[in-house]
Amino acid sequence: MPLSSVELVARINVWRREKNAVIMAHHYVREEVQDIADCVADSLQLAQEAAKTSADVIVLCGVHFMAETAALISPDKKVLSPDLNAGCAMANMLTEEELCDLRAEHPRALVVTYVNSTAAIKAQSDICCTSANAVAVVKSLPADREIIFIPDRNLGAYVAKRAGRDLILWRDGFCPTHERMLPTFVETARREHPRAKLVVHPETQPAVAAVADFVGSTAGIFRYCRESSAAEFIIGTEIGVLPRLRRENPGKQFYPLTETADCPNMKLITLAKIARCLEREEPVVRVKPEIAARARAPIEKMLKVKS
Ligand code: SF4
Repeated sequence: MPLSSVELVARINVWRREKNAVIMAHHYVREEVQDIADCVADSLQLAQEAAKTSADVIVLCGVHFMAETAALISPDKKVLSPDLNAGCAMANMLTEEELCDLRAEHPRALVVTYVNSTAAIKAQSDICCTSANAVAVVKSLPADREIIFIPDRNLGAYVAKRAGRDLILWRDGFCPTHERMLPTFVETARREHPRAKLVVHPETQPAVAAVADFVGSTAGIFRYCRESSAAEFIIGTEIGVLPRLRRENPGKQFYPLTETADCPNMKLITLAKIARCLEREEPVVRVKPEIAARARAPIEKMLKVKS
């Protein structure tokens, strides 16, 4: 008979202690997973936490590139992924060959790579970024150099506007969860909640971001909603952020721009899978040494940029 949630959490807590493990979770995973995590954060904060943890084992509850990033930053730790099938659709939208072609077309360009990418793509990049620091990363680069921004065309368009730079974008890269938020949904939501602020992630389509009251990373969205004097918000990002927004802001109302903004890969991480991977200490996420050596540098360079 499958164990109950209470039994699973009890086992997770025993193994977490015995193995000196830390459980890190992204804001988009299931609520019950966020509840038992030692740290719940966005991609940038997860990378920063992985860089400074003293734990021997990191259980990364998120999608594959997040576990890979932790393994790159903390090569002396054992990084576990509760489900190796939890991949990021966007990360698979640009191949190494396609990046080679882009570089060949723009041989003098610097390559800025969103962390939502494979280690092999990072290994061919000059610097990485997250949605929280992408504008600062682009602004940190020399003004006389062309910049290729991959793989997210929507984040790239937003960054180009905010940083005042022309960016060469990858036309086929986007997040299916955020792309699903159509401008017509904005019209409907505004009609239904006329006093609400529209708050969206920069992975949304440019036509949606252009009419938002605030555009920002997950951490930026939490901050904006906390500090705003408004009482109602329409949230244009993955619906996993809603429980925390409601918990942290009891007097405020939050409406999803669409209930369909759900990342199926993030939801693959369950308590049962966390318990199993902690017990067996597998699957371990490893990056081939020849790729790791080159993929680590652009991440470390990003972590030094002040946002
Ligand atoms: S929400 Fe989009 S970008 Fe984030 S992990 Fe899922 S597919 Fe990737």
